[in-house]
Amino acid sequence: MPAPIPESAHPEPGSAPTLVSPVTCVWGVGSERAAQLARLDIQTVGDLLLHRPRRYEDRRNFQPIRELLEGTPATVRGKIVATGTNRFKSGKFAFEIIVDDGTARLHCRWWNLAFMERLFTVGDDVLVFGKLHSLRPRMMDHPETEKVLADDEEQVHLNRIVPIYPATEGLSQRVLRGLTWRALQAHAAAVLDPHPELDLAAIRLHPTDDARGKQLALEARPLLPRPEAIRALHFPAELTHADRARQRLAFDEFIELQFVIQQRRLNFERSLRGAACTGDNRLMKPFLAALGFKLTGAQNRVLREIRTDFGGKVPMRRLLQGDVGSGKTLVAACAAVMTLESGFDVAVMAPTEILAEQLCRNFRRWFEPLGIGVAIWTGSRKSDETDSALFRPAAGTGLKVTVGTHALIEAGFRSDQLGLVIIDEQHKFGVAQREKLVRKGRRADLAPHLLVMTATPIPRTLGLTLYGDLDVSLLDELPAGRGRIRTHVRTPDALPKVWTFIRSELEKGRQAYVVYPRVEESEDDVKAVTVEFQKICRELAPHRGGLLHGRRPGEEKEAVMDAFRQGDIRILVATSVIEVGVDVPNATIMLIENAEQFGLAQLHQLRGRIGRGAHDSHCILVAEQKTDEARERLEVMATTHDGFVLAEADLKLRGPGELTGRSQSGLPDFRFGDLVRDRQLVEVAREVVRRHLKLAL
Ligand code: ADP
Ligand code: MG
Repeated sequence: MPAPIPESAHPEPGSAPTLVSPVTCVWGVGSERAAQLARLDIQTVGDLLLHRPRRYEDRRNFQPIRELLEGTPATVRGKIVATGTNRFKSGKFAFEIIVDDGTARLHCRWWNLAFMERLFTVGDDVLVFGKLHSLRPRMMDHPETEKVLADDEEQVHLNRIVPIYPATEGLSQRVLRGLTWRALQAHAAAVLDPHPELDLAAIRLHPTDDARGKQLALEARPLLPRPEAIRALHFPAELTHADRARQRLAFDEFIELQFVIQQRRLNFERSLRGAACTGDNRLMKPFLAALGFKLTGAQNRVLREIRTDFGGKVPMRRLLQGDVGSGKTLVAACAAVMTLESGFDVAVMAPTEILAEQLCRNFRRWFEPLGIGVAIWTGSRKSDETDSALFRPAAGTGLKVTVGTHALIEAGFRSDQLGLVIIDEQHKFGVAQREKLVRKGRRADLAPHLLVMTATPIPRTLGLTLYGDLDVSLLDELPAGRGRIRTHVRTPDALPKVWTFIRSELEKGRQAYVVYPRVEESEDDVKAVTVEFQKICRELAPHRGGLLHGRRPGEEKEAVMDAFRQGDIRILVATSVIEVGVDVPNATIMLIENAEQFGLAQLHQLRGRIGRGAHDSHCILVAEQKTDEARERLEVMATTHDGFVLAEADLKLRGPGELTGRSQSGLPDFRFGDLVRDRQLVEVAREVVRRHLKLAL
């Protein structure tokens, strides 16, 4: 139980501010304090109450200075017995205090911080938190300190677990803690559950019978009521309560987000119709017959799902997830064929020009024999009906597919007949971009269907967060007849052998990718593609190399890709621009230098460029591997080819931002939520909101 409220901390009688009231409502906050708080982004009472402590300090027991261990953080309490400043010839100076707690003395030292001298006086009672960096004398450098003042707020700061906040910009921990304490006493009652209408009990009392339902029931039980959570966030009775408090507040964030996502979907379904796009097979039959291979079982299943959506009342909103090489493009093409048969146009958006060109080439090969024109729309090339060289609506259906980059979102592109929007490698775009393109096809209450595709396997929590408003189809089967991919992890001293091996593969007629993290040389030791390109051409001559990176002009990139596809260029030396989508089945080698610079999901994508033909392929990851961790991280690549396993590993190692490209992902910044630790909470939140909105998906 928190200690009773000190007398002076009671609010002024009659004041009944709410959480959105300015922070000056808190007793003791004048304009100067308010300005300091504003620098921490604390404007309202609510901001103050939700200001998350960085750590906690258990001040019920202090450690005797004599028992401090080197390198282990601890808090001690003692009296200052001496202060002084050492000046060195170099101009540096160190201010030092000596603290005595009756068991031993502790030296605390701060370098080059002149103002510290003014903070301490001999005789002060102080708390010190830090790590010993030497034992003789016992010494801490730059510890955190707090003075103990004999005033009536003593019980806020002592004899309990106290919060320590992030950097406080001129406010001491003590002051901020005092303000939070007072705000809690006065306003905790205003901290209502934001959604009391949500029936948490429903999940608890009527869990579904499967394993997932049981798990959800389990997770819903220990959530604290929100006012209690906010109190325990700052002044937990036990350290474990602080995390339970965080979980409750995280849960509220997830609920908020699910409301936004699912309400968006609901409004959408209420107000819009989809074009009837099930088609009549007149194009589909010749299309499939010309392919030269049969669809996989998974491709057929997904196509049935799409066909059902195309015949339904509301527009399709579907995410197609499938590991690299699972044949997503073909599924997209089949969906396009159905749409075209039904008399509507199709727009396809890809994240890079290289990919847009490649998609355009495939679609032309497949569609032009059927009398369907395929236009390209990228930053450097735009075609429409008047540009006959690029846009050839063959002896005319008049129907067309437009393939492009994000240039499609810009003003110039429009379509009155859009029935389907396809977005390839969706993780490279944001939700806003995707919706902008869809909106271009809106006519009255008719909206185009949406198919988004991604090969970045998204851990489920992230998926629910980023794509919670989409139905999901999974391509979980690779086309038959693919060669094996073997992955090798090597250090740079093995490179001569690696080049010999690559040469032997080239001599068998195969092709190779060689990938570097940088375009140009930089200060660090990370290799750059422009530098290495020359060396590789010499090393592997007479086999011809080509250079590809994002800074080359569009036509040059395309010429290089073309030559590689034709087999004129045998070795493609590139940055990670080739990470997504590129499809050259004869390429069987993927050498990645400075592999430590890439995320696992990214390495998996790069590896997905090989193993697309019948020959065995080799992925060679070269890195220094100075630490065990670095080696283990790359070894994961050698042991699994399951993109989901790698994505989960990446999420844990590098966090969600890395995985999705935070700037574009639309991933919210959670204050309390943690997509790695709170997986179950995300599921519960989604379920609760879904039941509430009675969205039976
Ligand atoms: P991704 O899912 O990575 O986008 P792609 O669509 O690029 O994969 O397909 C990879 C390769 O597999 C392409 O060359 C494609 O033509 C081929 N492919 C797709 N479906 C099949 C199939 N059912 N049988 C054989 N090959 C297929
Ligand atoms: Mg693809």
